Amino acid sequence: MNDYMEAAEAHVLHTYNRFPIVLEKGDGVYLYDTDGKKYLDFAAGIAVFGLGYHYPGYDEALKEQIDKVIHTSNLFYHVPLADAAGKLAKASRMSKVFFTNSGTEAIEGAIKAARKYAYLKDGSTDHEIVSMNHSFHGRSVGALSVTGNFHYQEAFRPLMGGVKFADFNDLDSVKAQVNEKTCAVILETVQGEGGIYPAEKSFLEGVKALCEEKDILLILDEIQCGMGRTGSMFAWQEYGVEPDIMTCAKALGCGIPVGAFVLNEKTAAASLVPGDHGTTYGGNPLACAAVSAVLDIFEKAGIQEHVKALTPYLEERLDALVEKYDCLSVRRGKGFMQGLVVTGRSVGEVVNQSLENGLMVISAGSDVLRLVPPLVIEKEHIDEMIEKLEKSLA
Ligand SMILES: *Cc1c(COP(=O)(O)O)cnc(C)c1O
Repeated sequence: MNDYMEAAEAHVLHTYNRFPIVLEKGDGVYLYDTDGKKYLDFAAGIAVFGLGYHYPGYDEALKEQIDKVIHTSNLFYHVPLADAAGKLAKASRMSKVFFTNSGTEAIEGAIKAARKYAYLKDGSTDHEIVSMNHSFHGRSVGALSVTGNFHYQEAFRPLMGGVKFADFNDLDSVKAQVNEKTCAVILETVQGEGGIYPAEKSFLEGVKALCEEKDILLILDEIQCGMGRTGSMFAWQEYGVEPDIMTCAKALGCGIPVGAFVLNEKTAAASLVPGDHGTTYGGNPLACAAVSAVLDIFEKAGIQEHVKALTPYLEERLDALVEKYDCLSVRRGKGFMQGLVVTGRSVGEVVNQSLENGLMVISAGSDVLRLVPPLVIEKEHIDEMIEKLEKSLA
């Protein structure tokens, strides 16, 4: 593996401190490195591989599309586009979809749609967006501007103007940032990178009411918490709070790079029009075939129901760990998006030890062990994870 790592470091720009593992293939909920070592995957490529590796029907759907055409540009219609958009609109019960290649691009589109909506209302161009502290929305300049992490932003200023930050789960702090120039409030329904913080129901309801009262758009970032991860197709569906714009990516294609921003009818009818936004690759036939296959499989296999059914067991086993180990202080999360707060030792150390023991986990924030397994794990995989994690903690 050292040779591969050296070869990569020779020419890959060093923006990641990668784990010293060279991955070769996946099978079900396991990954294998080039030495043949097996890892139980509770990271899923950062909440991407909702269906694990080589889920029946998924590869076949992609291969079938490869044999037809993988790219057309957005100057033409193609069949997978119609399929994927229709299925995503149905799953979200929202109106119009714009496909992107990534999460950060979905956020860019959401920002532009919100600004255009406000521009069409009052003709002015000094609108503001309220975002949350400790949020994460991506690394491009627009998405970075609404990411509530000073450390990520510092060297790249000046960023996009007109962004204000409030505290997550603190309605008064949101109200304090809203004024007549505010065009949108953006938040993750469950904060991911910031440390796995689910929104409180009263907070989300309060933000929604505030937005409705002032005709401000509510943008919910479901890039990590969406696509069945919390036990509903989209996390907001459990709260009964509908966004005006939703962003998704990560598990949307379950491994094929694809994201989307999805608009409700009100926003779609009065925002972006031809000429306002575009992408060469976004929503190409291969990406849309993936989205289409994923949404079919979710429905047929009852993926959300599976997550819902198994969540109490996962939470019970994790709670028992928190009880047992002094270095674990709190469990937070929803469904298969769980975080354990590590105290008195570094999360990195626990992650490294877990890798050593054949368990793939990642961190979130500065002190949270993040568990975002494929949504198709079974009880036995939870048991195996607990066993390996206990060994690592010990
Ligand atoms: C990962 C993530 C993004 C950025 O997605 P990329 O595909 O990495 O650009 C944005 N928002 C949230 C909540 C995420 O978890």
